Amino acid sequence: MKCNVKLDPWKIILDHYDEHEVEIAESLLSIGNGCLGQRANFEESYSGRTLRGSYIAGVYYPDKTRVGWWKNGYPEYFAKVLNSTNWIGINVTIDDETLDLAKCTILNYYHELDMKNGVLTRNVTCKLQNNKEIELKAVRFISMDEKALGAVRYSIKPLNFDGTITFESYLDGNVVNSDSNYDEIFWNRIDEKSYENEGYVMMETKKLPFMVCSYLTSVLTVNGEKISCKPEVVERDKFVSDVYSVDVKKGEVAQIEKFVATTSNRYYENSDLVEKTKGISNTACETGFDALLEAHSNVWAKTWNTCDIKIDGDVAAQQGIRFNIFQLMQTYTGEDSRLNIGPKGFTGEKYGGSTYWDTEAYCIPFYMSTCDSEVARNLLVYRHNQLDRAIENAEKLGFTNGAALYPMVTMNGEECHNEWEITFEEIHRNGAIAYAVDFYERYTGDFDYVVEKGIDVIVGISRFWAQRVNFSKAKNKYVMLGVTGPNEYENNVNNNWYTNKMATWTLKYTLRCLNKIKEEYADNYSTVMERLNLKEDEFDKWNDIIDNMYFPYDEELGVFLQQDNFLDKEILPVKDLEKSNLPLNQNWSWDRILRSCYIKQADVLQGIYFFEDEYDMETIEKNFNFYEPITVHESSLSPCVHNILAAKINNPDKAYEMYLRTSRLDLDNYNNDSEDGCHITSMAGTWLSIVQGFAGMRVRHEHIEFNPTLPENWNGYNFKILYKGNNLLVSVTKEGTEISVLEGNDTIDVVLNGKSFKLANSNPIKIN
Ligand code: BGC
Repeated sequence: MKCNVKLDPWKIILDHYDEHEVEIAESLLSIGNGCLGQRANFEESYSGRTLRGSYIAGVYYPDKTRVGWWKNGYPEYFAKVLNSTNWIGINVTIDDETLDLAKCTILNYYHELDMKNGVLTRNVTCKLQNNKEIELKAVRFISMDEKALGAVRYSIKPLNFDGTITFESYLDGNVVNSDSNYDEIFWNRIDEKSYENEGYVMMETKKLPFMVCSYLTSVLTVNGEKISCKPEVVERDKFVSDVYSVDVKKGEVAQIEKFVATTSNRYYENSDLVEKTKGISNTACETGFDALLEAHSNVWAKTWNTCDIKIDGDVAAQQGIRFNIFQLMQTYTGEDSRLNIGPKGFTGEKYGGSTYWDTEAYCIPFYMSTCDSEVARNLLVYRHNQLDRAIENAEKLGFTNGAALYPMVTMNGEECHNEWEITFEEIHRNGAIAYAVDFYERYTGDFDYVVEKGIDVIVGISRFWAQRVNFSKAKNKYVMLGVTGPNEYENNVNNNWYTNKMATWTLKYTLRCLNKIKEEYADNYSTVMERLNLKEDEFDKWNDIIDNMYFPYDEELGVFLQQDNFLDKEILPVKDLEKSNLPLNQNWSWDRILRSCYIKQADVLQGIYFFEDEYDMETIEKNFNFYEPITVHESSLSPCVHNILAAKINNPDKAYEMYLRTSRLDLDNYNNDSEDGCHITSMAGTWLSIVQGFAGMRVRHEHIEFNPTLPENWNGYNFKILYKGNNLLVSVTKEGTEISVLEGNDTIDVVLNGKSFKLANSNPIKIN
């Protein structure tokens, strides 16, 4: 089911109400600021299907895993970001009838997410069961300027009656996660207090001592005038409210504003939480909704200034890319290296808000190019900080000598996946974590980071690979047995080409870095070797693996094989499947999926994408043409890689098809799961599709390259890139490509369509 959002370059608009679409819209119109996130739930009570969700970054619960047969090494828990205090809630009564859109006749409906300013608006005209007609207006935002603050402005105008409107402005900590494994309540009450026009709820997570406080200040106005109406003050377990009743005449507007500050003991002492949140909430109320909104919009304006992509001539594509960028920017803002990017961000509960390989394989290039380099660096530091846990994780599985296996799913460095048979064996994630160090270093030229921190991470990962392979006498090569590649529609396979590739590449890269430290950072070399307890003879085995790794390959087809025996499968293209089979994961048994040839997401192609320079065009084409037709893209991470390779091999139609699929995946509900939340990490893939796909940007050590193409139905596009402190504008039109420096004074080496240029502020590049 699709939500039919209206096409608009800056807005996501729903101009109709359909009870079946409410949950999808709740995901699509989510708002957040990197610290707090909120699904687009209605403020008033709603008896239809809804997934209520208010989330706080980094506050999670270790839920017990559900498993039939426990195995050694199985994670103890599945972490999940918690649904926390409902801070938007307003119960509305109109002359004794509770307002509930599910029970009203909707006369007019308009729900809008303004991505330029980060504001959610809802305008509804409806008739209640008591035949009273009202106009409802709700506006809310979560401040980018004051990270603990959310604000709601909510009004009711009676259209055909004079009567009494009652608003109950509340905070409610009696919330549950819909995906909780044992239907547990995750919060303990600590305290709540309600006063006239304000109040707070303080709660602590069970098992882990996260203490969270939300403080509310409310203001009532009629026709814009503040009125002194004494609210009824309600206080009960994890719940506080102020109940305001006001008599209004037809056409008058009764309005309530809520200013809610929410923060946790991740940032303040427990004993300071009430005072801090009260301060923020009360001050916000004094500052006023409009001024707060302006400050919030100003931050968005600055953000868009370095990350916007403009597409001329294709509104669907334009809306798609802005939606993706907007969601990424409100999910992770990069000030706190303890935080990361959950696959659904703050738009739903699936994946528990934990960190996956998605961050390194997809998100880092996005944040690298659109934000200050500290933001991407913090994502690397996150893994560096968790190195000890990765070593412990590997030790639990029997590895030694500082070998590090990063978790596939994590909140604090511990493995916490809940799918033994799939996720456990996806050790390829280790490779992406090493790849990100290389990407960062290439992009920024900051090799100091490698010397200081990155080397510890890649040595740990290399040690893991060196122990994880074994020498096969039969093949006279190193092999890697019992893994799952990125294509999760195959489990426990031998010699997954991608994983073998990542392992070999990591070993090579680590040796290259160690060599560079030895030669160019000679003073640091012995410190690094001592810190890691590393001896040069450890490298002999690494070199032997590099020289003798086994890679499954089919001579006749000229393609790398996803794993041993892949060609035993019956190879049938997806286009020959009846449409009703798709998505396979909702229609086929797991058994049928596993033995089919269908590929969930780029696997061999993911490796070719990472290391394309190692392959000639013919090899890339052969592999693309073999794997693409049997790929179902049931992971959101898949289409963007296909887009980039399709652009590379000059297959513009496929590149464009894959672009639309990645950019409008959630808006058009391609995988029939938008109601669970948006695919935030794959949104970085959408950005990659334009920048690396259509524009062909590649980051080399000493320069950047572009090989732009223009989709046939676009008049042009342009995007901004932060590169070594300079803000660049790349514009591609039917006439040619222009690259200019918007801010910054460096001379930058650029290779455009194979020709070298010196780009500077005073020296833009233009070719026709
Ligand atoms: C994909 C994984 C990915 C995870 C989170 C799964 O469906 O197969 O590659 O890490 O989703 O996005």
